[in-house]
Amino acid sequence: MKKEPQHTPMMQQYLRIKAQYPDMLLFYRMGDFYELFYDDAEKAAGLLDITLTRRGTSAGEPIKMAGVPYHAAEQYLARLVKLGESVAICEQVGDPAASKGPVAREVVRIVTPGTLTDAALMEDKRDCILLALTIHESTLGLAWLNLAAGQLRVMETVPEQLVSELERLQPAEILLPESLRSVPDLNDRWILKTLPPWQFDLDSAVRSLTQHFEAHDLSGFGCADLTTALGAANALLEYVRLTQGSTALHVTSLQAVRDSVYVRMDAATRRNLEISETIRGERAPTLLSLLDVCATSMGSRLLHFWLHHPLRNSSEIQQRLDSVTDLIAHNAHPAVRDCLRHVVDIERITARIALRTARPRDLSGLRDSLRLLPEAAKVLAACEAGCIAQLMQELQPDPALTGLLEQAIRPEPGAVLREGNVIADGYDAELDELRALQHNCGEFLLQLEVREKERTGIPNLKVEYNRVHGFYIEVTHAHSDKVPDDYRRRQTLKSAERYITPELKAFEDKALAAQDRALAREKFLYDALLDRLSESVPALQQTAASVATVDVLCAFAERAQTLAYTTPVLTQESIIDIEAGRHPVVEQQVDNYISNDVQLGPQHHGGHQMLIITGPNMGGKSTYMRQVALIALLAHCGSFVPAQKARIGLLDQIFTRIGASDDLAGGRSTFMVEMTETANILHNATTQSLVLMDEVGRGTSTFDGLALALAIARYLLTRNKSCTLFATHYFELTRLAEEFKQIRNVHLEAVEHKHRIVFLHKVAAGPASQSYGLQVAALAGVPGRAIRMARKHLAELEKHSADRTPQLDLVFDETESDAEVEPQENPLIPLLRAISPDELTPRQALDQLYKIRQMLDEQSGQ
Ligand code: ADP
Repeated sequence: MKKEPQHTPMMQQYLRIKAQYPDMLLFYRMGDFYELFYDDAEKAAGLLDITLTRRGTSAGEPIKMAGVPYHAAEQYLARLVKLGESVAICEQVGDPAASKGPVAREVVRIVTPGTLTDAALMEDKRDCILLALTIHESTLGLAWLNLAAGQLRVMETVPEQLVSELERLQPAEILLPESLRSVPDLNDRWILKTLPPWQFDLDSAVRSLTQHFEAHDLSGFGCADLTTALGAANALLEYVRLTQGSTALHVTSLQAVRDSVYVRMDAATRRNLEISETIRGERAPTLLSLLDVCATSMGSRLLHFWLHHPLRNSSEIQQRLDSVTDLIAHNAHPAVRDCLRHVVDIERITARIALRTARPRDLSGLRDSLRLLPEAAKVLAACEAGCIAQLMQELQPDPALTGLLEQAIRPEPGAVLREGNVIADGYDAELDELRALQHNCGEFLLQLEVREKERTGIPNLKVEYNRVHGFYIEVTHAHSDKVPDDYRRRQTLKSAERYITPELKAFEDKALAAQDRALAREKFLYDALLDRLSESVPALQQTAASVATVDVLCAFAERAQTLAYTTPVLTQESIIDIEAGRHPVVEQQVDNYISNDVQLGPQHHGGHQMLIITGPNMGGKSTYMRQVALIALLAHCGSFVPAQKARIGLLDQIFTRIGASDDLAGGRSTFMVEMTETANILHNATTQSLVLMDEVGRGTSTFDGLALALAIARYLLTRNKSCTLFATHYFELTRLAEEFKQIRNVHLEAVEHKHRIVFLHKVAAGPASQSYGLQVAALAGVPGRAIRMARKHLAELEKHSADRTPQLDLVFDETESDAEVEPQENPLIPLLRAISPDELTPRQALDQLYKIRQMLDEQSGQ
């Protein structure tokens, strides 16, 4: 029998390692390159646009290969994780000289999109979230971790909330049990990793979580009542252990997020309001891009979080507002911001300390920042608001910690530990001694040079050192005849020869040994320093959180001043009362923004529960509606708002149904998307919700659309009773105001001037008088001839419809009255209600039963 060709020893090693990481790319270190083989090579070549080559054959098959240079690996890694790939990095760990066969290799690091902590791979201003989810008995359990900040949060909710929670959290990577792999909508949008279901098991979760947090049980974290979410949290920490090769010790607490803490916004609302991304998916112009003048990346990330998580607790909101007021009153924010601008990313450096990956310049940056913070605290001392005083305290880091970093790290340390120059002089006697030995080298070499010049009579002889060739004596060719016998040639250059002597060689050995020992000592000291610093991780996390908070509050203050915002008044009443409000983003883009008022709420407050908004296309309807929502949102974030005055009732949810967009990837047409979003609103909006409906019913035939729009408006008014802004092009809807006094018609003004339309963008009472559709079309450049034809058609259509019974009457013909929408009550129910069992004799009870049975039979036609 013919023997199967064997793999080469190196490929055997490769395949053994690769088998442990089947769904990741394996970067296999060979000299100055990381190589990828077989399918990995093909995939990486495609993704990174690098050359796919071959590296001979193994087991009779050609080996496909692609490689990236070691020194540029970070940039390739960054690209791969952005594309959603995970990479296992396999280094040579053995001594090449000592080993027979291939050098020993090991995976030392795994990079996945959701577990990044390395500065080079991360976006400064965005959090990187790893999320785990599982569903059990109709409970969706979510756990999400910001590894670079050490924050772990959990939540339980209904499975229907999944998409909206994912939109809120924007996880970079999602872990889920194999059974949920097929949950629709997830695959196209998110990066998924499936895990075996037992990793989500509740019992072992509670055990290992209590162990991780060194707690008796989880009630101290307010999580004792949770189940599925804990399973998810455990799967998450397990994954971190696997990928980081160490327990995430800096994750010291577990926080339960309850549905009721934040104003809820569904995925569509976040998109429509363009909070951090425009509808087209760009980063600017958005609410975040406008407000993010934060001095630190920590601040930018927290601002992103705040804008997506408006608070419902009025006292927390008020604290933020008071702080901003206070900062402005004392004009403290400019100086604080100046100071914070020099502060490094303490949050992420702290995580790297905990994970033992902090680099020397992380530590020097941390030291310099910690030194600066008391200056910021000093400025804040002038402020009076309670929470500023608290923050001020937290901006005073432990002097012992700053002191330790000052003593241990050089003022300007080298970039990488392996090249030394990191630990400060005077920190460690042994290191100082080794360094002195190296320093004395200089002295010795100078003396040697003088001596050799004298001995040989060569005036331009030089004793020098370089990294590749070590020490040498350089003599120009002109003097080569004077070179003594004990000089041994080391290297020939164009104009000179380099030599070594036995004396210089002996010195070199000693010096290099001292250098090696110094480097080893530095490494030892650095590791020990990281040990000591890890004790301060919780304190540093607190400092980082306070810096971020101060930074965002100062950004709010700066924006409020520069953009002329006012402080909103939060109230428990269900009202929205805004005077001269502006759309924060649009007002930056137009020359002359027209401000508008809004009054929503109960009538005795002079408000209406629903505004029906009409007016020409481009008149400003969407802008007006969004500005109301954005002002309300900003108020709930504790920011000042673009208005002259704003009184905002506390909201539980904001809903928007704006614009039409096909979700082709999801296989849903415009109309289906529109109705799905509408259904969600009608099911969930409450009296405390703000609802924006824009042009609902557009995606279907006119009468269908009109009928739906009418029904939806009525439903929102009578069932949901939410504060609603309802923009529509169906004029028929404006007649609802005659029926319901809670409805008010408003329109965006426009005037016609010489057949041209001029938008005034001013909201005025009453319905729009006409739609100006043709004028807008003309403005958009539809040819004059087509417009003239349209005008003719319009005249005909109007005449035609005037001749017929108006369809409207049909719609208003009381068919929509709420009583009729209710299903008719079953006649059995009044009968059953009339029975008092305690007063019946057994005989009477039996008679009643017969009667009920008979009615039932009649109803079902038997
Ligand atoms: P509609 O929803 O009625 O079609 P939009 O709200 O989209 O109109 O507004 C169209 C454009 O008009 C906006 O892009 C903006 O440039 C301008 N605009 C809207 N509202 C105002 C305003 N209040 N002041 C100035 N310009 C405005």
